[in-house]
Amino acid sequence: MSETSETFDVDLFVIGGGSGGVRAARIAAGYGARVTLAEEYRVGGTCVIRGCVPKKLMVYAGRFRDEFEDAAGFGWSVETPRFDWSVLKRRRDAEIARLEGVYDANLTRAGVAVVPQRAVIEDPHTIRLVGTDERVRARVILIAVGGHPVKEPVIPGAELAITSNGVFELESLPERILVVGGGYIAVEFAGVFAGLGSRTTLLHRGERLLRGFDDEIRDALGEAYAERMDLRLGRTVQSLERSEGAIRAVLDDGDSLLVDQVLVATGRRPNVDGLGLERVGIETDGAGAIPVDAYSRTAVPSIYAVGDVTNRANLTPIAIREGHAFADTVFGARPACVDHRLIPTAVFSTPEIGVVGHNEDVARRLCGAIDVYKASFRPMKAALSGRDERILMKVLVERATDKVVGVHIFGHDAGEIIQAVGIAVTMGATKADFDRTIAVHPTASEELVTLRVPAVTKHSIAAG
Ligand code: FAD
Ligand code: NDP
Repeated sequence: MSETSETFDVDLFVIGGGSGGVRAARIAAGYGARVTLAEEYRVGGTCVIRGCVPKKLMVYAGRFRDEFEDAAGFGWSVETPRFDWSVLKRRRDAEIARLEGVYDANLTRAGVAVVPQRAVIEDPHTIRLVGTDERVRARVILIAVGGHPVKEPVIPGAELAITSNGVFELESLPERILVVGGGYIAVEFAGVFAGLGSRTTLLHRGERLLRGFDDEIRDALGEAYAERMDLRLGRTVQSLERSEGAIRAVLDDGDSLLVDQVLVATGRRPNVDGLGLERVGIETDGAGAIPVDAYSRTAVPSIYAVGDVTNRANLTPIAIREGHAFADTVFGARPACVDHRLIPTAVFSTPEIGVVGHNEDVARRLCGAIDVYKASFRPMKAALSGRDERILMKVLVERATDKVVGVHIFGHDAGEIIQAVGIAVTMGATKADFDRTIAVHPTASEELVTLRVPAVTKHSIAAG
């Protein structure tokens, strides 16, 4: 029997009310589709409830330390500043609750029915709502369930540690904290806790933080963090145990640390457990992610997946784009795919990192001969503040085409700068385009358009 839309309860059932699911539901409803969305926790998903947004509010809070310290060099006298965690937590949580309400209201206004419970897949067109045991028949199912933090490797006492989810539950600022991991989340929260006044240890198994980023940016971050906290590279934690009303972390080098909290930030995995994928024959990949084609379609024609559960690029703007493109394709008769090749991104460490395009190693591998333009300098503000941190900017240019293939910034506001630079790079800007752009003076980012001489590197000497 051919199934027309009349035989279904809804045209689209979205599982998950995060960045990808909310966008897909709203856009599909805008095309006239009958849409239901199930969310088992809080509408807004990881980004709004326990990711990007509350994290960035905490990043802002942590950075006031630098502002207070720097102010003295400009003539301000600031009495000993005091930080009150309970004020930050209350105000942050209120803002998140407000945003959750906005997301909910926007869905309702768009005509999407929101079901506040867990949903699982029964067959290619049937969803079961776990709380009420109802079945919903849908022409199309979208899986947008995101991921969850994992503690790796599993060590004795791992239950004493929190993950990023637990950070948002803390009732007080830990006096001493150990952060384990060297990715986005570890680096960002280590910066936050150090800024807020916790004695912070950041411990990572690798010799550099932020694998995949440009090595010089990684070194610059390592140097800055070594000044701001106890940075331990090339180390692992062997066990955690309760001790003296605190937590003792035993390290692989025999050293041990006594801390009040341990934050493990060693990656995230897709939320596929118990989702019913095996009932429809969807197999996950080695990372537990759902494989999809360029249009986010799974191996089952009526089931699509977007966002972190597909592990393509685990960032909010990507989940949103994928959700939007899915809705355009399936309900708007406007086939659209997301180009994952060029993704501007920022790490909200302090100082911050902004990146678009290849790092130097990848550029050399993929583009052949490249020129590296580089500026490393003390920001003007440091002349009076006395702060001893440098800004690093790198522009990588493919010699054959003059195209800018990578821009890397380490320093204040790098995220804001890279968003604008990302437009130029996405448009295919050449180094000549950068050069003919008039500088904005005095700014740090004017360096990007005044770099004239390629840096002499080991590679360029070897290449002649
Ligand atoms: P999610 O936003 O995770 O949404 C999935 C939703 O599905 C969740 O609400 C979940 O409760 C729900 N769900 C799961 N299973 C079911 C089910 N069976 N039934 C019903 N509901 C279900 N990205 C950035 O771009 N910038 C940042 O600064 C940034 N900071 C981050 C900071 C932290 C601490 C973390 C953890 C992540 C951060 N990210 C950031 C990543 C970003 O949050 C994710 O990439 C993004 O939220 C992915 O969106 P999504 O729609 O795929 O999934
Ligand atoms: P990441 O994948 O970025 O980093 C995981 C870290 O844990 C790496 O340093 C990794 O080391 C380390 N690790 C993994 N397994 C082990 C192990 N067994 N033992 C010791 N260390 C281990 O994950 P995050 O949890 O930091 O973040 C998840 C994702 O969320 C990010 O990749 C990003 O996509 C997104 N995000 C984006 C943000 C932003 O845009 N600003 C902010 C926060 C999150 P190694 O490098 O050696 O593998």
